[in-house]
Amino acid sequence: MKKTQITRSEPDEHGHWGRFGGRYVPEILVAPLEELTEEFMRARHGNNFWRELNQLLRDYAGRPTPLFHAERLSAHAGGAQIYLKREDLLHTGAHKINNALGQALLARRMRKQRVIAETGAGQHGVATATVCALFGLRCVIYMGAEDVRRQALNVFRMRLLGAEVITVNAGTRTLKDAINEALRDWATNVHDTYYLLGSALGPHPYPLMVREFQSVIGREAREQILSASGKLPRALIACVGGGSNAIGLFHPFIADERVRLIGVEAGGRGDSLGEHAARFHTAAKSGGGRVGVLQGTMSYVLQDPNGQIGTTHSISAGLDYSAIGPEHAFLHDNGRAEYIRSSDADALEGFELCAKLEGIIPALETSHAIPPAIRVARQLPKDDAIIVNFSGRGDKDVQLVADLKR
Ligand SMILES: *Cc1c(COP(=O)(O)O)cnc(C)c1O
Repeated sequence: MKKTQITRSEPDEHGHWGRFGGRYVPEILVAPLEELTEEFMRARHGNNFWRELNQLLRDYAGRPTPLFHAERLSAHAGGAQIYLKREDLLHTGAHKINNALGQALLARRMRKQRVIAETGAGQHGVATATVCALFGLRCVIYMGAEDVRRQALNVFRMRLLGAEVITVNAGTRTLKDAINEALRDWATNVHDTYYLLGSALGPHPYPLMVREFQSVIGREAREQILSASGKLPRALIACVGGGSNAIGLFHPFIADERVRLIGVEAGGRGDSLGEHAARFHTAAKSGGGRVGVLQGTMSYVLQDPNGQIGTTHSISAGLDYSAIGPEHAFLHDNGRAEYIRSSDADALEGFELCAKLEGIIPALETSHAIPPAIRVARQLPKDDAIIVNFSGRGDKDVQLVADLKR
């Protein structure tokens, strides 16, 4: 593989990273996506937009987040020093607010009065409802009926924040169906509506835009680790649902080829299709991850042998999706990043270990990254460092874990 290809992280003008990404949408969405791309590019290359966003990230969301040296976890691993990038300390409890604030600012610049979003577990819905309250925008959240039932507290939280939550009864009544419904709404109401997508997924420009808004994680972490340890880390480790927290951490390190980039997918409770959400797991006879199009973008998608979209399972709703962001597919195929799996059981182990050793309860999504971080640290000398992206806090998962233990 040529070096230039490995380090290239800007997609072409149509949003392709190699053969991945792009814009596979009905005709009616082409013009609004063009308009959004233009507005985003203008904002991206101007100073005013970033000045405004950075101020909100600081005063409202709580940035910069600390890079915490987890000494007891490091001692437990017995190797490299483990640092945690504390996105869990942000307002609303996870990295999602970084993207929600960026896109809400764009919506305001575009004079859209109404914002729609999809949500699975409700974390992105809560972040979106939050920024809409802040900016005085109307907010409509699409959520699968199954998720509405499982996440009653987040539904209440969104309504408290002034959002309308629409229950989707189609398909498997989960995230994928909520995204379809949100796209349909957008196609009908483009004149006054902004679609605030929650991960580094979907048609161009979303994967690029979400990455740019989440890259603040990696920019801060790079500076912080250099001042804490005087050198670059040996590895970055992050859980990967759609891939926004991972790409946000990885992006500012892409050209540092000696820094290993490790994404952790949900291995769920088994290897066959329907038992996990590991899109780069291609082996099973029942089907697995193959290149295909889902919801506007070309990437790795879990499919059965006939090409039907596969169902997924994970203990953590935030990792439970059949496709992965296109830039990750690109980094996977050219070998710049590695992708591994943690099972539900691994995640529970990471959850408890982190609580007991560091006094920090991680989100179950984040917990997937902890056992592999310990394995990677163990193989490295004590004066090296690795960074784990601590994508969110675990308050939302305490009840679920308590129920599992009963
Ligand atoms: C939503 C979520 C994720 C997964 O989303 P990405 O886009 O892959 O980052 C991971 N961790 C937490 C805490 C989340 O809320």
